[in-house]
Amino acid sequence: MPKPEPPITELPVHVSAEWGKYAERLWRVYDRIPPVSCGGRARCCTLLPEMSLVEAVSAVYSILEMPRALRSQVLHNMAEYFLLNPVRIMKCPFLRDGLCLIYDHRFLGCRTYGLWPEEYYTRMADANREAKKRVRMAWAEAGVAIPDAIVNFSVPYCNRVRVAKGHKRPSGKTLLKLGVKVDEISSDMNDALRQQFTNSFFMDLSFWLAANAAGARTVVQMKLEAVRQWVSSGGGGDESGKVARLSDALCNKFSAA
Ligand code: SF4
Repeated sequence: MPKPEPPITELPVHVSAEWGKYAERLWRVYDRIPPVSCGGRARCCTLLPEMSLVEAVSAVYSILEMPRALRSQVLHNMAEYFLLNPVRIMKCPFLRDGLCLIYDHRFLGCRTYGLWPEEYYTRMADANREAKKRVRMAWAEAGVAIPDAIVNFSVPYCNRVRVAKGHKRPSGKTLLKLGVKVDEISSDMNDALRQQFTNSFFMDLSFWLAANAAGARTVVQMKLEAVRQWVSSGGGGDESGKVARLSDALCNKFSAA
């Protein structure tokens, strides 16, 4: 099990005066992705994508702008996703009724899915599966057996995305460079936090939010208990109490903004 170390930098629950310039740079990267049409909208939103720090901050601001009831729903989804994603294939916490709640601000991973050449996508999916096997070993050390179906799951390669007429489909190398550019923005924004977000929170927005709301050690312990209970009950356990507790902590954090 991952054991992130404090200190955790406070969530940016107040829009910083500096934010505009980083957001502008982020948009310049997004603008290099051609407009597309997609035949299977939201079919791919079965995971919360990995992201860089600047995109996580952007997501925090998107959540802050939501009406209170919608924000509570998203934070509830986020709590459930964080606690149970090692044992359940869950949809992205921002997906509702087949639509993305932050579509205009969605992440690089969402924008580029369906644009990758197949050999790049397959390589990334293989690397991701290998990473999940290592995570499974860490869970096994904690006495929890993660199901094969979860370890072997990956969002399938997509060939339904069409680039709009007059635009060029970016190469795999170009898409990789865009990822580097986004990471550079994160680094300029706050390199220590970027490293912490990447290395201790594994680029997982749900983990970062949960840790900031209730403390890293507490939420890791909650997750361990939730996953263990889920596995020992054969998937029939009721984790709604833990999800509600974490969801309340997240709502309190955001309502303090
Ligand atoms: S952020 Fe939006 S587009 Fe991206 S995976 Fe989530 S629901 Fe889908």
